[in-house]
Amino acid sequence: MPVKITAYECVHGCGKYLKTKKSIVNHELYCFWNPARKACMSCGNRIMDDEYGSWCDALELDLNAQPPGRKSNLKNGCSQWISKHNKSLKQADAV
Ligand SMILES: [Zn+2]
Repeated sequence: MPVKITAYECVHGCGKYLKTKKSIVNHELYCFWNPARKACMSCGNRIMDDEYGSWCDALELDLNAQPPGRKSNLKNGCSQWISKHNKSLKQADAV
């Protein structure tokens, strides 16, 4: 019979959950979905596309490509980062 446990889920929506509140709070600081990290996962410039997969509209970069010595082009602390909310406003202006 399985044992029921309590777990804590990341507030930034990355899907991660851990068994202690302290460990998930620590994760949230470094989570790439945390807007404070200015990482691709929370960026309004990131486009998910059938043709390109994960694409950065600002840097015109395939985020899934594997440059030498790196797993992908995914970044954090990016100077081009914009919130997804601002992206919606930009698109509304263009219409
Ligand atoms: Zn997270």
